[in-house]
Amino acid sequence: MLFDTHAHLGDPRFAEDLCSVLGRAEQSCVGLILTIGTSLPDSAESLAIAKGRLNIYASAGIHPHEASSASAEALSGIRGLAANEKLKAIGEIGLDYHYDFSPRERQREAFAAQLEMAKELDLPVVLHIREAHGEALQILKGQKRPIAGVVHCYSGSIESAREYMAMGLHISFTGSVTFKNAQKLAAVAKEIPLDRLLVETDSPYMAPVPLRGKRNEPANVALVARFLAELKAMPFEELAEITTANARGLFSI
Ligand SMILES: [Zn+2]
Ligand SMILES: [Zn+2]
Repeated sequence: MLFDTHAHLGDPRFAEDLCSVLGRAEQSCVGLILTIGTSLPDSAESLAIAKGRLNIYASAGIHPHEASSASAEALSGIRGLAANEKLKAIGEIGLDYHYDFSPRERQREAFAAQLEMAKELDLPVVLHIREAHGEALQILKGQKRPIAGVVHCYSGSIESAREYMAMGLHISFTGSVTFKNAQKLAAVAKEIPLDRLLVETDSPYMAPVPLRGKRNEPANVALVARFLAELKAMPFEELAEITTANARGLFSI
């Protein structure tokens, strides 16, 4: 059984046919999905989707792209959502210096505030770090006590990955690891120890080969897992079971 640890089921692109999308996930042995929030309204939507469904859980957080919206009210709204038992993580939070959709200072503030919140609530974090690994590592190392979580859609070096793992964090890969021009990333993925590995789709984004460019959906996490199993020269079922157990442990599901 597979666990898609990162999907945006609240995305408008799933509004029309979410039931069919979830049906296809089930047929592909995707037994668990964590649907991820990116803003206060999106996190509320994500939680609403998880609430009515046994095998779906939610995270709540303000994405670095949305950091400009991380007012005190928005942050306390996120905290309010976290009281629900289907809410299993704070995220996605972090730094994105590739797009810089929010000013970096605002990104750092929103990231710090939500790390603090996760620690207070004793929840793991889903980290979105793009072209900011040095700074993110510095911020994480500055935490008084270690925080559980995952660096999602990993895109950094093996050295940075080792530093995240030394802090106890997990590393997760999307379809981007399957891209033809991502050999460097595949080489990094090959080195990640099995007990730290998670798989995800980041649906509707990041569709794996051979679906690159199409709308992605949780069923396709099987393609990511199959790619990683081949990379690590191990049976697909074994990689599926291990990554699912890792995710269940991390998110207490
Ligand atoms: Zn992300
Ligand atoms: Zn995402």
